[in-house]
Amino acid sequence: MIQFIDLKAQYQALKSSIDARIHEVLEHGQYIMGPEVVELEGKLAAYTGAKHCITVASGTEALLISLMALGIKPGDEIITTPFTFIATAEVIAILGAVPVFVDIEPDTCNINSSLIEAAITPKTRVIMPVSLYGQPADMDAINAIADKHGLVVIEDAAQSFGAEYKGRKSCNLSSIGCTSFFPSKPLGCYGDGGAIFTSDDNLAKAMREIRVHGQEKRYVHTRIGVGGRMDTLQCAVVLAKLERFDWEVEQRLKIGACYNELLAGKVSVVAQRPDRTSVFAQYTVFVENREQVQEKLKALGVPTAVHYPVPLHLQPAYQESCRVHGAVAVAEEKATCVMSLPMSPDLTETHMGEILQALFSATDV
Ligand SMILES: *Cc1c(COP(=O)(O)O)cnc(C)c1O
Repeated sequence: MIQFIDLKAQYQALKSSIDARIHEVLEHGQYIMGPEVVELEGKLAAYTGAKHCITVASGTEALLISLMALGIKPGDEIITTPFTFIATAEVIAILGAVPVFVDIEPDTCNINSSLIEAAITPKTRVIMPVSLYGQPADMDAINAIADKHGLVVIEDAAQSFGAEYKGRKSCNLSSIGCTSFFPSKPLGCYGDGGAIFTSDDNLAKAMREIRVHGQEKRYVHTRIGVGGRMDTLQCAVVLAKLERFDWEVEQRLKIGACYNELLAGKVSVVAQRPDRTSVFAQYTVFVENREQVQEKLKALGVPTAVHYPVPLHLQPAYQESCRVHGAVAVAEEKATCVMSLPMSPDLTETHMGEILQALFSATDV
């Protein structure tokens, strides 16, 4: 059977390491902030090239703690994309700040960097691009705008751990990078987890304290914080998965390139820029009559998903608490036609052949 994301094949391949790592935690018993937390933070910082890695309870918590460390207050504005998972805007709204949505590029579906500057006001504090589907946005252009206006850039890299932009790793492309270890992300654990990356010592210190209830030392709370630690057990799982992560990234690039080549001229797909890679958290195509295509594919044994059917400014809870800069017509249009195909490092050639055949028959090409 074709899986949308094949986590079982991955577990079978890594079973002995994962089981051993989990067992070690059960034996030493340091379930909170155990040695695996420190080990993982060291390895992930080295992998990305960022000076600091702070593991946290989830990708959402990573974004929230980052904004808290920057001292984001009610009324502050954060410029971001409406075409993303809800968590990107949620953390802004939780703090009483305002998500300001600018439109996306029609081919990559990432934030359109040429529209950002016009959305800046005296209240703007942060630009938060999302590396959607695993491909970083125009980070050089976005960093340049931020520098010019004294803003901070937080990369929502929940989908892009392992991707590169001009030879540098996602999560280390701006002042702050945040990722998620939700099981289906490119580097996943077996529950919730996430990490923040920064090379700023003061921010890292603030993030570490906010992660543990704003505690500077035991029972001395110098900031308002959260309960935002990542479990030792989940860190152990990620450590085991790191063993073959380079191979997985290579597979993701290979499978993505294969999809690109075989779909070229037949089905339009999310574009890739030549100066960066995508780790294809999702492999996404554009189709008309999406519901019918999805139904036909389902009948042929091919699971699909939609990321995302409703842009965030149209979500009921956000209609009044966000600001839309100009029109976000591209995001609205893409929401009607994006469809993601099965993707995982363990996807076989046979399954890919079946997926493509089913897609061609479902879209009449
Ligand atoms: C998954 C995701 C998040 C949230 O991560 P969690 O670990 O599920 O909290 C945030 N932003 C984007 C773009 C995501 O895809």
